[in-house]
Amino acid sequence: MNLRGFVRVAAGPATLWAAALAAAQPPSGWLIHDRERPLPPVVRPGPQQLPAAAPSDAVVLFDGRDLAAWRDKDGGPARWTVRDGYLESVPGSGYLYSARGFGDVQLHVEWAAPAVPRGTGQERGNSGVFLMSKYEVQVLDSYDNATYADGQAGAVYGQHPPLVNACLPPGAWQAFDIVFRRPRFDHQGMLHAPARITVVHNGVLVQDAVAAWGPTSWLQNFPYEAHPDRLPLGLQDHGNPVRYRNIWLRELPETEPPGPTAPIVREYLSAPAAEHERVAGAYVFEDETTVRVDWDEGRLWFQPAGRPRLELIPAGAGAYALRWTAGEVVFEPASGGPPARLTMHLGGRAYPARRQAP
Ligand code: MG
Repeated sequence: MNLRGFVRVAAGPATLWAAALAAAQPPSGWLIHDRERPLPPVVRPGPQQLPAAAPSDAVVLFDGRDLAAWRDKDGGPARWTVRDGYLESVPGSGYLYSARGFGDVQLHVEWAAPAVPRGTGQERGNSGVFLMSKYEVQVLDSYDNATYADGQAGAVYGQHPPLVNACLPPGAWQAFDIVFRRPRFDHQGMLHAPARITVVHNGVLVQDAVAAWGPTSWLQNFPYEAHPDRLPLGLQDHGNPVRYRNIWLRELPETEPPGPTAPIVREYLSAPAAEHERVAGAYVFEDETTVRVDWDEGRLWFQPAGRPRLELIPAGAGAYALRWTAGEVVFEPASGGPPARLTMHLGGRAYPARRQAP
């Protein structure tokens, strides 16, 4: 039965009931799991260097040895199989959850669908990476395996199809690199910002900071409900023996690095035009490159050869600050006739330059 056609017909008449149905559509405009939604084009990834070694600040959740960092849904021992450096979903054993909770993360996961494919569509190599136990990036054997677009490997399940299908053949190790920003809720539990998900599948971008509409689900479109800032990472048992290895993540800072403890106030002085004209001219650095100092339409410019010009702001006798940059230029002598030299101070270093004879 074509359910979509049924809904279309039902939504056709301009009745209140039909209007309510239309308003309840998912944000994409497509119905969930709509077979008519365009399928992502297939892209064959380039060769991958796997396993990808974890960086020094990573939390390693599975290094091939044991399931110490994992639990079952009730907090008991994880019941997936560990063998030859990988772990494998045991059909019927339930989801796996990290013992620790996480919020914003960069996550690396390697997975492999069963080498001998069995089943079709969603029954073939189905698993999933559940960020915060709620937001699924779909794991599926999508290599020559037709299914609905929003259920392919790399989909934010039921919401966002991958940009392309970058799936490798069954049995091959493939990588998800995921950047996840958790949803933000205000103190009243109202959604302040949705979860944002970026996924690179085998080196190919498949999700570009998409906003999750809410927790992912089969057939359903659930709204957000406030939840803790950190929740376990989940791996789905969908009844298929999908393998995982080399699972690590980096916890991302959730706030901007702090600004200065006090506002940086640079005192800019005014100087007579004659003073600007005094310092204007050409100067030669020790490496024989030149810099021009130009007084032009009421502003003083500092232009090293072949580089953008920088504005100078008077900061004291013979001294000028770079307008936007932590650096300054000091002319000597500070008064009198044209300066004999200047020194640019930048990045903790001093660059002296002599005045070029006019
Ligand atoms: Mg799944």
